[in-house]
Amino acid sequence: MTDRIHEFLRDRRARGLDDGPCLVVDLDVVRDNYSAFASALPDTRVFYAVKANPAAEVLELLAKLGSCFDAASVVEIQQALDAGATPDRISYGNTIKKERDIARAFALGIRLFAVDCEAEVEKIARVAPGSRVFCRILCDGEGAEWPLSRKFGCAPDMAPRVLETAHRLGLTAYGISFHVGSQQRNPRMWDGALKSASSIFRELAERGIFLSMVNLGGGFPTKYLKNVPAVKAYGQAIFRSLRKHFGNRIPETIIEPGRGMVGNAGVIEAEVVLVSKKADTDAMRWVFLDIGKFNGLAETMDEMIRYPIRTEFDGDETAPCIIAGPTCDSVDVLYEKEPYALPISLEIGSKVLIEGTGAYTTTYSAVGFNGFPPLKSFVI
Ligand SMILES: *Cc1c(COP(=O)(O)O)cnc(C)c1O
Repeated sequence: MTDRIHEFLRDRRARGLDDGPCLVVDLDVVRDNYSAFASALPDTRVFYAVKANPAAEVLELLAKLGSCFDAASVVEIQQALDAGATPDRISYGNTIKKERDIARAFALGIRLFAVDCEAEVEKIARVAPGSRVFCRILCDGEGAEWPLSRKFGCAPDMAPRVLETAHRLGLTAYGISFHVGSQQRNPRMWDGALKSASSIFRELAERGIFLSMVNLGGGFPTKYLKNVPAVKAYGQAIFRSLRKHFGNRIPETIIEPGRGMVGNAGVIEAEVVLVSKKADTDAMRWVFLDIGKFNGLAETMDEMIRYPIRTEFDGDETAPCIIAGPTCDSVDVLYEKEPYALPISLEIGSKVLIEGTGAYTTTYSAVGFNGFPPLKSFVI
C-alpha cells in the first residue's frame, strides 16, 4: 500500500465514487520493479508478460523504460504495439496459436515465436518464413504456489528434434524456454531447467545447429502473506547456474516477469456486503465481499494465492472466518479450507484492502457474471 494509492482511495470515497470494488495500480512501484529486474539481471532482456496486467498505462511505462513484451495473442501484440513497442521487442510466446493468428502477427512484424512440437513449427514455417523460434521445455513447477502443469512445453529430449525441424524448414532455431511455475519462492529452481537447456544446446551443436538464447520465463514472486526472496537472490542463483551449465559460453538470456513486475503495485478496495453465521451454535462467521472469484480474485482457486487483507479495524481482536464472493455460484468462496483471521469488529459496509493484486486480477474478471461488472481499474 503506497501513500499515492491511499490518497487516491480517500479522494474517491470523499467524492462518493466508491461504489463497487476497484483496483488501483501505482506506476511508481512498477518502475521500481523494472529497475530491480534490470539491475539483478543486467545482461538479460526483460519481456514483460502482458497477461499479468495489460493496462495501457502499465504497458506505456514499460515500453518507455525499454522493456520488451511477451504476448500470447494478436490482441496482446497490438496492445504492446499501441504502447509504443516496436515489433522486434515483442515475442509471440504462446505455444498454442492458430495459423491465421501467426500470419497476422507476422504481418505486424513479429519474428519471434514459441513452439513445443513439430506441428506448431510447421505452421510458423508456412506463414512466418524465416522467423526465430524457441522451444519450450517442461518444468515440474515444484516450489511454485501457482504451478503451470504440463499444458506447455515438451520433454527436454524431444526439443532437439523440434528445433532441428525448424532449422530444416528455413526458420532460425533460436533457443530454449521454460517456466519454473508462477510465484516460485525458490531461486534455485531454475537450475534443473538450465541444465536441460545446456544439454539441448550441446546436442544441437553436434548437428551443426547453434542456438543463441535461453528464455528464463517468469515465476518471480510478489509478496503476499509470506516473505519472498528479493529479485537479487534470483539473479545470483540464475547466474550461478548459467556459469555451471554453460561455462564460458553463456547464451543471450531473457526473462518474462508478470506477477513480479506488477503484483505489489496494485491494491483492491472492496466492501463487506454481509457478515453472518450458518447456525446459532456455529462459531465460524461468513464474511461476504463485493469481490470474489469471478470479478478479479480467480487466483484464490484451491486457496493457492492467499492475499493480505487489511481492514479499518486492524489491531482489534480477530477470529477465523470464511471469506466468500458476491455471486450465486457456490464455488465463489475465497478461503474456507484454511479460514482467514479477520477482526471481530468488522461490519457490514466496512471497506477492506486486498494487497498484492496488481497481477492476474482485472484479466481474470468476468464480463458480467450475475450482473456484477468487470473489476474497475485505475492506474496512477
Ligand atoms: C504467464 C507467463 C509468464 C509470467 O509468469 P509470472 O509467473 O507471472 O512471472 C511468463 N511467460 C509465459 C510464457 C507465460 O505464459
